[in-house]
Amino acid sequence: MTTYKAPLREYRFVLSELFDVGSLAQLPGYTEATPDTIEAILEEAGKLCEEVLFPLNRSGDEEGCHYENGVVRTPAGFKEAYRAFREGGWTSLACDPEWGGQGLPHTLAFFVEEMVCSTNMSFGMYPGLSHGAYRALSMHGTEAQKKTYLPKLADGTWSGTMCLTEPHCGTDLGQIRTKAIPAGDGKYRITGTKIFISAGEHDLTDNIVHLVLARLPDAPEGTRGISLFVVPKFLPGPDGGIGARNGVRCGSIEHKMGIKASATCVMNFDEAEGELVGAPHKGMRAMFTMMNAARLGVGVQGLGLAETAYQGARAYAAERLQGRALKGPAYPEKPADPIIVHPDVRRMLLTMKATIEAARALAAWTAIELDVSEKHPDPERRQEAEDLVALLTPIVKAWFTDVGFAAANLGVQIMGGHGYIREHGMEQLVRDARITQLYEGTNGIQALDLVGRKLPMHMGRLLRRFFHPVSGFIEEQAADQTMAEFVLPLAKAFGKLQQATAHIAQAGLKDPDEAGAAAADYLKMFALTASAYMWAKTAKIALAKSEAGEDAGFYRAKLATARFFMARLLPETSSLLTVIASGAKPVMALEAEAF
Ligand SMILES: Cc1cc2nc3c(=O)[nH]c(=O)nc-3n(C[C@H](O)[C@H](O)[C@H](O)COP(=O)(O)OP(=O)(O)OC[C@H]3O[C@@H](n4cnc5c(N)ncnc54)[C@H](O)[C@@H]3O)c2cc1C
Repeated sequence: MTTYKAPLREYRFVLSELFDVGSLAQLPGYTEATPDTIEAILEEAGKLCEEVLFPLNRSGDEEGCHYENGVVRTPAGFKEAYRAFREGGWTSLACDPEWGGQGLPHTLAFFVEEMVCSTNMSFGMYPGLSHGAYRALSMHGTEAQKKTYLPKLADGTWSGTMCLTEPHCGTDLGQIRTKAIPAGDGKYRITGTKIFISAGEHDLTDNIVHLVLARLPDAPEGTRGISLFVVPKFLPGPDGGIGARNGVRCGSIEHKMGIKASATCVMNFDEAEGELVGAPHKGMRAMFTMMNAARLGVGVQGLGLAETAYQGARAYAAERLQGRALKGPAYPEKPADPIIVHPDVRRMLLTMKATIEAARALAAWTAIELDVSEKHPDPERRQEAEDLVALLTPIVKAWFTDVGFAAANLGVQIMGGHGYIREHGMEQLVRDARITQLYEGTNGIQALDLVGRKLPMHMGRLLRRFFHPVSGFIEEQAADQTMAEFVLPLAKAFGKLQQATAHIAQAGLKDPDEAGAAAADYLKMFALTASAYMWAKTAKIALAKSEAGEDAGFYRAKLATARFFMARLLPETSSLLTVIASGAKPVMALEAEAF
């Protein structure tokens, strides 16, 4: 069995030592979000995840969801767990108090979500999608729509979905065929089929609020002609409760590789009544509000799964007795040494630990900046924060989910054949993690977003929001000899990232395939460099605290992991630069017919 303990010490480190979560309490609306309150809430969330969600993870995977005549039932225990989650106020953490929310920072919600995904990713899909729907309606809905839907989504009595994908189009939403015909009363009749809709139908909430992309009759071709509609399963009644059944039904559920307790539905809309959200033909813009938040959320899913895989692998490596340490028995009194003595097992565990902890630090940075981008009184500071979040979003989504899958895979490797066997729980993490690299825009699409949109945006302004603090840190630390072993590798990788950026900017101008062929490698290079920045900042703190004090061991572990990262993982940036510089030709030369 995999085990899980909420990584509360890690949260305290990234939030209060590496970054200053306390600064959020200075922002209007967040005065109650002091570091102590944040810590106490994380601890409570940790208990719920360990005690309620984690025990349902394997049974949910084994049982899956049930479909019968349009009705979907979640696995045993999910309804009770959802009720406990809802009644505990966990659905409304970051929602606006005007709509019954608790008005707490996104930063807090981010790490609660990490623990939820660590312990039961399928379960986390239900409140996760509701949160996306809440965000889209709160930013683009009319006052009446907000009043109808936001309090219900915030308190979790109703849930939300995101209906984009159709059988013939996933990435290329410009091909959407679902139609919205004006009904003459300000409402619309929505007709079409959506597939792969997470939480499209289930038994956890009284109503399901679908946010649906569809075309108006006069819509221009492509993504410019897509509008967003809110289409509830039950039309809202006059008293604010539920009214008549709407014309949207679940046709079937998918049988899939992982997240089996999350209902992935075919949704048929048959002249369902809907209301326009935002302006006609501007649905993609509104949907992007939801997708950007959702992309960060998917990144956090990757991080959460990676943490569980690491904890399981670490416990196994300390207990499993096989072979002897190469230098001679480490535990001669035992029949064999625990496998943690073997360099190859340590390599795998440290790869997990070093990538996970750097990702969590990046998550903290991104989340705090997301809060600043919404709440800071100074518009210039808000813009700066928004730029950084926009730049980091594709990296958080793609890199964290790659880390999640790689960590789960390493977890299986560390457990040997036992990792492949169901009862140990590690193979489920591999299956669950795999989807995170695909939905919310595949990781390939995230790389294109980084290279094609975020780099050139505002003449490189977004990029400077990352480059300036990194180069500033390198300069500041130049005189500190104790930091040289961290700062020199960071500076080297950063130089290479700048070279790669210049190469892509120039070559991509002449030939877009150059940027396309470099994109995935560039995103990885960027993520490794950003991780090195996090590790160098961590090392600065750890150097000061690793000599004495009750937590000295924690900081020594940070230093050893930082050294591993710099020595064993960061050098990949050199080969990535070589690959990027080789250009598009090796990728594009082969004729399509010759594959
Ligand atoms: C379990 C599950 C849950 C889901 N939940 C939802 C949901 O709640 N709501 C929803 O609307 N959808 C949902 N989806 C759909 C998901 O978002 C899509 O599957 C995903 O966006 C990819 O689309 P596709 O499957 O059609 O692949 P395609 O778009 O056909 O892509 C196939 C491959 O081609 C690549 N590719 C495509 N276009 C380009 C391009 N322009 N440049 C480079 N490479 C390209 C892709 O990266 C990918 O590798 C879910 C899917 C699954 C499996």
